[in-house]
Amino acid sequence: MTIGPITVRPDLTALRAVVGGAVHGPGDAGYATTGFNLAVTRTPCAVVDVADTDDIAAVIRFAGDAGLRVAVFATGHGGVEVGPDTVLVRTAALDVCEIDPSTRTARIGAGVRVQTVLDAAAPHGLALVCGSSTTVGVVGFLTGGGIGPLVRSLGSSAGYVRSVRVVTGDGTVTDASAEVNPELFWGLRGGKATLGIITEVVVDLLPISEIYGGAVYFDGAEASGLLRAWRDWAADLPREAGTSVALMRLPEMPGVPPALAGRLTVAVRFAAVGDHGAAQRLLAPMRAAATPLLDAIGPLPYAAIGAIHADPAVPMPVHEGTTLLRDVSDGTIDAIVGAAGPRSASQLIVVELRQLGGAFADEQKVRSAFGHRDAAFNLHAVGVLAPPPGPDHGSADGVEPVSSTTAHLLAAVRPWSTGTSLANFNASADPAVIRTCYDEDTYAWLAALAARLDPRGVLHTGQVVR
Ligand SMILES: Cc1cc2nc3c(=O)[nH]c(=O)nc-3n(C[C@H](O)[C@H](O)[C@H](O)COP(=O)(O)OP(=O)(O)OC[C@H]3O[C@@H](n4cnc5c(N)ncnc54)[C@H](O)[C@@H]3O)c2cc1C
Repeated sequence: MTIGPITVRPDLTALRAVVGGAVHGPGDAGYATTGFNLAVTRTPCAVVDVADTDDIAAVIRFAGDAGLRVAVFATGHGGVEVGPDTVLVRTAALDVCEIDPSTRTARIGAGVRVQTVLDAAAPHGLALVCGSSTTVGVVGFLTGGGIGPLVRSLGSSAGYVRSVRVVTGDGTVTDASAEVNPELFWGLRGGKATLGIITEVVVDLLPISEIYGGAVYFDGAEASGLLRAWRDWAADLPREAGTSVALMRLPEMPGVPPALAGRLTVAVRFAAVGDHGAAQRLLAPMRAAATPLLDAIGPLPYAAIGAIHADPAVPMPVHEGTTLLRDVSDGTIDAIVGAAGPRSASQLIVVELRQLGGAFADEQKVRSAFGHRDAAFNLHAVGVLAPPPGPDHGSADGVEPVSSTTAHLLAAVRPWSTGTSLANFNASADPAVIRTCYDEDTYAWLAALAARLDPRGVLHTGQVVR
């Protein structure tokens, strides 16, 4: 492999000598790294199943000495391409998940998925403030700030992080919190892997056992009126409640209710904390906006919060597009319906609008690099590339219609776009895309911290501020 004019051949025997976990080179049985998004191609020069924090430090030092880069992989939900100049650190073995009911905290390793924590916390009546998908990795989710169905009530998940253990780009193991290394703590919450590879976090849990939530699905033929009704209804919701709306084209497959499969539907998702009767009354006007195909909203154990969006858990090749919106006007709705509604040729499986505001927009108690809190809505589109490619290879098939519909959609809503995006919804190694995830000061400060903590640029790969 070549980096600039120099050919680098990593000495895997030397790498194996400094780490306790398994090291896999291309062609080895353990090398294949299949994540959630099968369209992402990964061809690292080595994959290391790190056994502990010291392994990560050793990999980073080894890579720095060898002129290589290091990227991190947990579940592949937010994966970006990894090239042969990079050693890929796989964190699955960092699986600590300890609930401390006395302090209402959880200690969570970098390899742990959200559902594991939800299930461990539920018997104590405690809840992790999480996103819509419970199969994502907790740590990867938190590095992007993290918004979920209750973001208007509880704020972003990164606000609940108490402390972080991290290996910075110079191979140093360090802890960070509001009191210890506050600059690093600021940048780890929102800056993705720019400032280091996190090995574990301690987060605050909330005493929530049950919420009122779920989704009600309507016929997609009524998309235009339903989006208008949703926008008007959502505008008056108190911060105890949150909502999103999605145009969905779900395939006929196991797990998809027949009433929703193979057609365009409009899903109104709803989540509320507090009194269930009050939540039911808040929801009533939206429930009555049209005749539902399926109404699956009611009291919901918190650990089942993933049912609200019912995000797919099986790996698939996806193409995504996103932008934050300052407003959803009639024009915005016409643009969305024109690009992805009933009379469009859209193949996108989901085009969703998440309402922000409420606690999302509040001043943070401990500031972080997670920004753009003045945005009113998050628009996110997902298309599946078909036919599915093999586990390690992206496929060009299906890219053109899905990516051109996504581009058409984003162009159509540009008048209402802030021109910015949330890092968790915009996995990309493209510096221009990464730039949209931060305001100017945040971007500059992340870059300055990275230069200080990672002088050899070992982590300068993937979705990081350079
Ligand atoms: C179906 C689906 C639903 C989603 N829903 C939401 C949602 O509701 N809200 C939301 O905010 N996001 C959501 N996301 C985005 C998701 O939170 C991000 O993609 C997140 O990065 C996933 O982390 P991961 O570790 O699971 O994935 P990976 O692809 O393994 O990692 C993605 C990135 O996270 C960072 N990362 C992972 N581990 C570490 C580590 N140990 N140290 C430092 N950085 C690390 C790195 O930048 C890495 O490239 C969703 C994604 C999908 C596919």
